[in-house]
Amino acid sequence: MGKLVYKSLKICQVAPNKFKMVKKFSKHIELRFYGGLNHFLPASKRQVPFNLPYMGTPTVKDLIESVGVPHVEVFLIVADSISVGFDYKPEPSSQISCYPRFYNLSIDYGILRPTEPAPPVFILDVHLGRLASYLRLYGFDTLYSNCYSDDQILRLAAAENRIILTRDKGILRSGAAIHGYYVRSTQPKEQLNEVVDYFSMACFADPFSRCSLCNGLVETVDRENVKGLVAENSYNHYHSFYRCSRCGQIYWEGSQYKGILNLFGRHGPHHE
Ligand SMILES: [Zn+2]
Repeated sequence: MGKLVYKSLKICQVAPNKFKMVKKFSKHIELRFYGGLNHFLPASKRQVPFNLPYMGTPTVKDLIESVGVPHVEVFLIVADSISVGFDYKPEPSSQISCYPRFYNLSIDYGILRPTEPAPPVFILDVHLGRLASYLRLYGFDTLYSNCYSDDQILRLAAAENRIILTRDKGILRSGAAIHGYYVRSTQPKEQLNEVVDYFSMACFADPFSRCSLCNGLVETVDRENVKGLVAENSYNHYHSFYRCSRCGQIYWEGSQYKGILNLFGRHGPHHE
């Protein structure tokens, strides 16, 4: 008798939970992601429509980010054949398609994306120090500090209309993030090519116009003014010198110059 009571109690405990689970996710939408957005999905959900159960009345932004895709990389959302904004609340069983940045197509992203700065200006997270140096050498205004907190990055990005580059998906999911990109590669040279391709920004490059150390602008300096500030061999061998207007770092077209030009690979050089 004791055993019977126990079993019936157990059934009573489990059954309501099962009922709750069914009720909780009684609604669903059909989601599909295109292009590079599939990077954030498990293999079974890439390049195919899949059902996403949900509860309540979430926005489409909430639903997209619930599967791991940062909203800053979504440039167009189509819900049942109509373009919608991030605050759109889908009807149950809606078919939602999410598209990344388009290449070689002139499309007004309208309700989703404010205009990006052109040429692009960046702020990088603490994991991307080498990429920050490369972007500066390539001539792009790039803020970087290994002391920045996520909040500081978000604040500076919003205040100066900068694009956040990061290896931290969390920061891109913040509602305060406006422009951003999750850098896929872990190799700095590949990261540079990846970012240049993604933002189609090679046309804006101005190699060696910025200081790799501090992001200051580099200007030509009279050779006499660097005497004693660079090694005598370099001073005697080279005739053109440049100096950072902010930190004073001196540059010349030394042995590292060609290596850095090669770094720009298929995108460069454009420097005269
Ligand atoms: Zn400098």
